[in-house]
Amino acid sequence: MPITSINPATGQPIQSYTEHSPQQVQEKIAQTQEAWKAWRLTSMSTRTAKLRQLATVLRNRKQQLAALMALEMGKPVKQGLAEVEKCARCSEYYAEHAGAHLQDQLIPTEASKSYVSFQPLGIVFAIMPWNFPLWQVIRFLAPALAAGNAALLKHASNVPGCAIAIEEMVLEAGFPQFIFQTLLISSKQVNAVLEHPYVMAATLTGSSPAGKEVAQKAGSLLKKVVLELGGSDPYTILADADLEAAAEACVNSRLINSGQSCIAAKRFIVEAPIVEAFTGLMLQKMKAKNMGDPLDETTDIGPQARADLREELHEQVQQSIAKGAVCLLGGEIPPGKHAFYPPTLLTNVRPGMPAYEEELFGPVAAIIRASDEAEAIAIANDTEFGLGSAIFTRDLEKGERIARNELQSGSSFVNQLVQSDSRLPFGGIKTSGFGRELGMFGIHEFVNIKTISIK
Ligand code: NDP
Repeated sequence: MPITSINPATGQPIQSYTEHSPQQVQEKIAQTQEAWKAWRLTSMSTRTAKLRQLATVLRNRKQQLAALMALEMGKPVKQGLAEVEKCARCSEYYAEHAGAHLQDQLIPTEASKSYVSFQPLGIVFAIMPWNFPLWQVIRFLAPALAAGNAALLKHASNVPGCAIAIEEMVLEAGFPQFIFQTLLISSKQVNAVLEHPYVMAATLTGSSPAGKEVAQKAGSLLKKVVLELGGSDPYTILADADLEAAAEACVNSRLINSGQSCIAAKRFIVEAPIVEAFTGLMLQKMKAKNMGDPLDETTDIGPQARADLREELHEQVQQSIAKGAVCLLGGEIPPGKHAFYPPTLLTNVRPGMPAYEEELFGPVAAIIRASDEAEAIAIANDTEFGLGSAIFTRDLEKGERIARNELQSGSSFVNQLVQSDSRLPFGGIKTSGFGRELGMFGIHEFVNIKTISIK
């Protein structure tokens, strides 16, 4: 079956790619393993020089990459440009810090010398999603290569052009041939790659069902996995919050990437006395966003990445309304072959509705009323997910206490939207996954933490 990319803004096919056969995949794994044998012994300065070069290559191709993402998955170009820049900074971050993160750690014992050394594992297999087609890959790849690993990528089937572009850029940056390769395969071939003895570990970003399948398979093979899955991030707005600033952060977080981000704010839990005022601000700010052609620099919201994902989202909205949610904005599919979905605001959201219980991966905000702070925190935590969370209050001490001790998530931000940052670890708890990407913790996920002891 060919892998065909489809422009979600028009419904038109862009390009078809021939899927790599099982035989080709086996050959590629062997090539990457060969390349790794030399790469694992290279110095840190050799690796980091290439990471700096990768940052330059990314920046040189910025316009082209942003246009490619707009075409393949509908990301507005101004957000695409920002994504490329973020990837370049991530490469530079690991160029600068990988040496320190992977420095031997001396630990005095009765031996004459004992220490921990961080050794590369071998091939790390990444299964990645379409929503940030460059960032999701670079944030795993930069630390993996810096640590002396090799990597294989199975990208989402709707972004093959992005997958190929990343492989080209890694080569152009001067990394050895085959140290990183894209496998153009459907998810049916994933198990065979996981089973290969040269493949040492895997990382998946995507939905919980995909994560569970890969985790089960990797578990049966006793191979390590890092999983970054979905989220339904709660943003709690307390009565003493700066409502204007809170609403601005909430709308920006909900609508980034046309609502398709794992760490987008999805549920807005608002203390009763300010529900009307906050809802009014959200409505005003969501209305002001401009939905349109992702190639237009003034566009805030492009199409959803695929028509089937848009249908799924609409079904969740319709079911929530049928169960009593009130739709103040959007909620209707525009006519045409494209995959657009308008900014949608639901209030009166309650337990039992999809907008309360499930992840809504699109530009749909769900407002939930809470009678007081304690109930707001209980609602925030009343979810199977635990990726990010945020709390808005003018009382910074209270905000920090709630963020630190009360909210059940991998990241908790006070008076700001949750964002990934190369310097800080990123990942979730509960069904949002396990393991961490980015920062020092991210680079330590795929290394052999090796004890050396000399009598
Ligand atoms: P998937 O989880 O299906 O896709 C993510 C990646 O996993 C893709 O490369 C996909 O390949 C692959 N994959 C899918 N199923 C399997 C499997 N059984 N075994 C191995 N690999 C698999 O996401 P969707 O594109 O279908 O999006 C569905 C939902 O997932 C979204 O609505 C959202 O809730 C969530 N999601 C979360 C993301 C996040 O950042 N955490 C990112 C994207 C989606 P292929 O494309 O070939 O199917």
